[in-house]
Amino acid sequence: MAQYRSLASTPAAATTRMPALFVGHGSPLNAIEDNEFHRAWARLGSQLPWPAAVLCVSAHWETQGPAVTSGAAPATIHDFGGFPPELFAVKYPAPGAPTLAARVAELLGGEVTQDDRRGLDHGAWSVLRAMYPDADVPVVQLSLDRGRAPEEHAELGRALLPLRDEGVLLLGSGNVVHNLGLLQWNLPAGFDWALRFHERVKAALVAGGGAALARPRELGPEAELAIPSAEHFLPLLYVDALRRQGESVALLTDRVVLGSISMLSVLVG
Ligand code: ZN
Repeated sequence: MAQYRSLASTPAAATTRMPALFVGHGSPLNAIEDNEFHRAWARLGSQLPWPAAVLCVSAHWETQGPAVTSGAAPATIHDFGGFPPELFAVKYPAPGAPTLAARVAELLGGEVTQDDRRGLDHGAWSVLRAMYPDADVPVVQLSLDRGRAPEEHAELGRALLPLRDEGVLLLGSGNVVHNLGLLQWNLPAGFDWALRFHERVKAALVAGGGAALARPRELGPEAELAIPSAEHFLPLLYVDALRRQGESVALLTDRVVLGSISMLSVLVG
């Protein structure tokens, strides 16, 4: 079983700086369908530098106060309903990384719950299953602390910056436009308001991200429909916070689907 050992502890890897990745995960079916998104995630897995571990901030784990998964063998959580049995049968047996969990708690300071019973939710495994199908990269999840404002999430993200030099791939998993109430399964494209907000987020990213992105309500009136609740947007702020000055940002899977779901993915570094 793969074990997380910080790459920074090996001289050969001293120059390896990992990128940070935000993925628009969309429907849980993307985990098992051979579609453009699954294939794009698979390509990323084979093209990015091989990580010592993944730290995933997923829309699907919210807590009071931050928490990290600290178990050695996190279970696969099927946190959805109304999908086919094949999806409920998926197991993603990536090992955990208790040493990384402790490192994250150290970097964030204060009270960080180390939860050795929490498994991996579909925000994490639907993407990781495509990127690393052999489940051979250790995975830790960091929860979204419900009590924090978007700017405070960005601040937490900045505290995680050293991990990029320790071989850790930070994976934010959410959707920059996410409105399940208005979603239309048979609609391949996006509503006008969804497309407009998707473009506003892209423009903010290209312009440097930072404060403009961390106040998403100010990006435009469409924010009300695009972000009816913050949890799918917030993981992007962690990835944006890991961007160093002058670093490039690549916009991937640049589409809005099902009317109200942006599949935009963002690679930093
Ligand atoms: Zn989701």
